[in-house]
Amino acid sequence: MPGDSLNINNKGVKQNSFDAIVIGSGISGGWAAKELCDHGLKILVLERGRNVVHNKDYPTATKAPWEFKYRGDVSKQYLKENPLISKAAGFGDDTAHFFIKDKDHPYIQEKPFDWIRGYQVGGKSLTWGRACQRWSNFEFNGPARFGYGFDWPIRYEDVAPWYSHVEKFIGVCGTRDGIEAMPDGEFLPPFDFNCAEAKIREAITVNYKDRHLVHARWAHLTQPAEIHLQQGRSRCQARNKCMRGCPYGGYFSSVTSTLPWANKTGNLTVRPFSVVHSIIYDEQKKKAIGVRVIDANTKQSTDYFARIIFVNASALNSNLVLLNSTSNRFPNGLGNDSGLLGKFVAHHNYRASVNAEIEGMEDKYYYGRNPTEPILANYRNLHKQDTDYVGGFTTFMGAYRERGATKGLKEEIGAEFKYALTEPGMWHTYMYMQGETIPKESNHVRLSTDQKDQWGIPLLIMSVGYDENDEKMIKDFLTESAAMLDKAGCKNINQYDNHQAPGLDIHEMGGCRMGNDPKSSLLNKWNQLHHCQNVLVTDGACMTSTGNQSPSILYMALTARAANHAIEEMKKGNL
Ligand SMILES: Cc1cc2nc3c(=O)[nH]c(=O)nc-3n(C[C@H](O)[C@H](O)[C@H](O)COP(=O)(O)OP(=O)(O)OC[C@H]3O[C@@H](n4cnc5c(N)ncnc54)[C@H](O)[C@@H]3O)c2cc1C
Ligand code: SF4
Repeated sequence: MPGDSLNINNKGVKQNSFDAIVIGSGISGGWAAKELCDHGLKILVLERGRNVVHNKDYPTATKAPWEFKYRGDVSKQYLKENPLISKAAGFGDDTAHFFIKDKDHPYIQEKPFDWIRGYQVGGKSLTWGRACQRWSNFEFNGPARFGYGFDWPIRYEDVAPWYSHVEKFIGVCGTRDGIEAMPDGEFLPPFDFNCAEAKIREAITVNYKDRHLVHARWAHLTQPAEIHLQQGRSRCQARNKCMRGCPYGGYFSSVTSTLPWANKTGNLTVRPFSVVHSIIYDEQKKKAIGVRVIDANTKQSTDYFARIIFVNASALNSNLVLLNSTSNRFPNGLGNDSGLLGKFVAHHNYRASVNAEIEGMEDKYYYGRNPTEPILANYRNLHKQDTDYVGGFTTFMGAYRERGATKGLKEEIGAEFKYALTEPGMWHTYMYMQGETIPKESNHVRLSTDQKDQWGIPLLIMSVGYDENDEKMIKDFLTESAAMLDKAGCKNINQYDNHQAPGLDIHEMGGCRMGNDPKSSLLNKWNQLHHCQNVLVTDGACMTSTGNQSPSILYMALTARAANHAIEEMKKGNL
């Protein structure tokens, strides 16, 4: 039972009551708070980490490289103490303040899994890569059409207006390309391709009718609209220091955008240092009535109450909270009649990349530090299955000039070397995959029965691995990408499989999937738990399959859609 062996400090139900509680203040939680506050509801956002205030809490945002003790690297001691989190993309001395420390937040790796977390107000929205492509119907209906997965209860058309709603508010740059596998949206102007990227695009267009190398869509304000100025944000300056926190609010985070917006309504309360232990289910009322919180510092327990609860703790933490929310009615976790909670966890496959050199164009350079990359929309298994595996992959790419024209010099010392460093080197290019993985019942998370964290919450056990389908996709990506670069005249093409463990992709999904049938899914088409409808799960935990596009904008769109549905249901007295 929740609360066993805890000291409860309830302080009176009224004082701790809100219309809605949102668990987590990151990308999806910020959206739940914004939508619900905009409709006049009193909202409590519970966040386990510290508070982060826009600008004030970006300690490295304007630092020059020489102002860091190790020029951006962390100390050997830090690396020794944090072997896991220091593997994260973009981790360094300039960004470490937005990542957890390993020893504070243990978990159990039954199979290798690098769990990358940022516990603070804003969550991972402060450090995310900002890629924002829409899903197409190929992704929504692919698993059922080709028989490799469970069907979604929604299609692209259900979520398209919510994508627009989100894009307009957060600001997404890109071009309208008319590609069936990557639908267009409401875009601000894109960053430019550089000359080498344009050359590769041309070669792909000439050689492959079905492959489209275009601007990816990124949550950057290339040309702020009125709604962005109202948020206090301004134009992106192309500094590419985003993960430190951006003083201009040039990219979207919940700290720059949704949370301050919600706060302006006067309806928002954010409570940092609040580790959600579980959701409280009332057997008589047959619904959830609140949330049990352990104060991160004092370890005191307090209950908060609300009519509806949004679970946005990030995919695997949301699974943890739900699994830990046990009662007589739900002994195996809230809403878990199907026994599938924590199962069918999946992620994106980022293992493979290619790189190459490009000769020529030595009189050409680029302006600024472009924080975006072009994208090659998925070209596999769209209308029919055309490979020996299922699912598809997106390809990100880029081209840049090497630092220093030092190639061919015998010694890395002396006047000649020093002079060479003042000139840009030759052009290089790279491509890397973001592949769909197939959710399987055996890929799961569950609670430890004998190990707990410092807040008395069971540790999460990760049991997630790759399979043969992933290996085949990697092979195909490497062969095809190398062939495209070869056709573009690139030299010294290398193919690379980094064999990284799941998790480092930072796109973990599933465990509490959506579906029409309560026997085989946890959530209905509005992200409500089938068996406890005033609890809505709208982060990556809800994902029925992974698709091949960066997922966070879909979490935002689903959250906004679910919040507006919940408001309608509350008005009707159904929630
Ligand atoms: C380096 C990097 C690059 C990325 N690039 C991209 C990209 O380009 N495109 C893309 O789509 N996605 C990208 N992602 C992934 C993206 O950040 C996540 O998908 C997104 O942040 C998930 O949103 P969320 O709201 O579910 O979780 P988060 O943003 O992580 O927020 C969850 C919040 O819940 C809090 N929390 C957790 N447990 C509890 C608890 N028990 N009680 C209270 N609070 C709790 C956490 O502290 C956190 O603040 C990237 C991530 C990283 C780190
Ligand atoms: S590139 Fe743009 S969003 Fe990123 S830090 Fe610079 S100004 Fe901010």
